[in-house]
Amino acid sequence: MDRQAKAVVCREWGKPVQIEQITVEGPRRGEITIKVAACGVCHSDLSATTGKIQYPPPLVLGHEAAGVVVEVGEGVEGFSEGDHVVSSFISMCGKCRQCVRGHPVLCENARKAMFTLPDGTVRTRDSQGEPLNVFGACGVMAEYATLHVDNCVKVAEDVPLQNAALVGCAVMTGVGAVFNTAGLEPGSRAAVFGIGGVGLNAVQGCATAGAEMIVAVDNNPKKLAMAREFGATHTIDLNEVDDAAKAIRKLTGGVDYAFECVGAGAVVEQAYKSLGRGGTAVVVGVADPKDKTSITTLTLPADERTLKGSWLGSARPQHDFPRLLGLYRAGKLKLDELITQTYSIGEAVQAFDDMISGKNARGVIVFD
Ligand SMILES: [Zn+2]
Ligand SMILES: [Zn+2]
Repeated sequence: MDRQAKAVVCREWGKPVQIEQITVEGPRRGEITIKVAACGVCHSDLSATTGKIQYPPPLVLGHEAAGVVVEVGEGVEGFSEGDHVVSSFISMCGKCRQCVRGHPVLCENARKAMFTLPDGTVRTRDSQGEPLNVFGACGVMAEYATLHVDNCVKVAEDVPLQNAALVGCAVMTGVGAVFNTAGLEPGSRAAVFGIGGVGLNAVQGCATAGAEMIVAVDNNPKKLAMAREFGATHTIDLNEVDDAAKAIRKLTGGVDYAFECVGAGAVVEQAYKSLGRGGTAVVVGVADPKDKTSITTLTLPADERTLKGSWLGSARPQHDFPRLLGLYRAGKLKLDELITQTYSIGEAVQAFDDMISGKNARGVIVFD
C-alpha cells in the first residue's frame, strides 16, 4: 500500500535540504517497507547535497537507519512484520563472484543500486507524483522507506533503534576498517587522522581490538577530548604541530597502523609517513575524484609497508552488523555516547548545519 511520509530531500546541489511530504509505495517482489525509527546524519549525505557525490536530484537522503518492518513483498524470505532492520547502502546480491568470495562491499551488482533500487526504479514520489531518487538504494531519512532485502540486515530487538542505526555507516566504517580491513593485532600501535563520526569509531575499534597506543589527530580540541573518551592514549592537535607524521613517529617509533578518516591526498601522505617498518596505512575517507596522493615508492618494498583502502569497513553486513551490536551489548563498543544530539525531521536543516560546524560526534534524526 502507499504511505505518506515526511522525508529529507535534496532538490538542487548547493542548496539546503528540504522537508517534503512524499508517497512511499509498498514493496514489490523481494522488497520490504520499514517504518524508520532513526537515521544518522552523515557527511556522505552532505556530499550528495553539494554534488561531491553525484547522485542526481531530486534525491531522498539517508543511508544510516534502523526501523521496523511494516510490509513484506512477495518472495521475501527471512523478514517478517515487526522485525528490526538496519539499512545497508551496499547492495549485496549474495551470488556474484565478489559476494561469494566474502567481499560483499565489492558486489558486482551493487552499482545497479546507487540511487534507485536494484531494478533501476524507485518507490518514492513527490507531491506532484514525480519520482524521487534514493541515496544508496536506501533513502531512509524519511518516515517510511521501501528497500530491497539485499539492502537490509535483520538485527536483535533489544538494542535501541537509534543506536542500531549507526552501525549502518559510521560504526561499521570506522570499527570495520580496524577489525576487517587492517586486522589489527593486540598490542599494536595505531594513529587515526580525522576524528569525525568515522574517526571516532576507528579509535574505539583500535581500543576494542587491544591496541597498545592510539594517537588521535585533529585540529578540533573538542574532538580530541572525545577521542580520549573513546580510547585514544595520545592526541595531536594540528594547531600545535607542523608535521603530525613526525610527531607520531617521535611518540611511537612509527605506528603499525594508520587510519585516514578525512578523504584528502595530503592527509593520506601524512598517514603513510607516520608508519613504522611493516606498517599499514588504511584510507577510509572519501576523497574528491580528482584528488591524488604521492608516496616514496622505495618504502613499499624496503619497509614492507602497505597502503590500502577500506569501503564500509570491508563489511559483510549480514555478519558484521549483528556482531557490532553484540559488542555494544557486551559493553565493548560505545554507541550511546556517539549520539551527541537528536533531531526531529523538522530540524533536519539544523542537523546538517551542526554537522558542517563539527558540533556532533553523530547527530541522529529520530522519528515519531
Ligand atoms: Zn555514511
Ligand atoms: Zn554480489
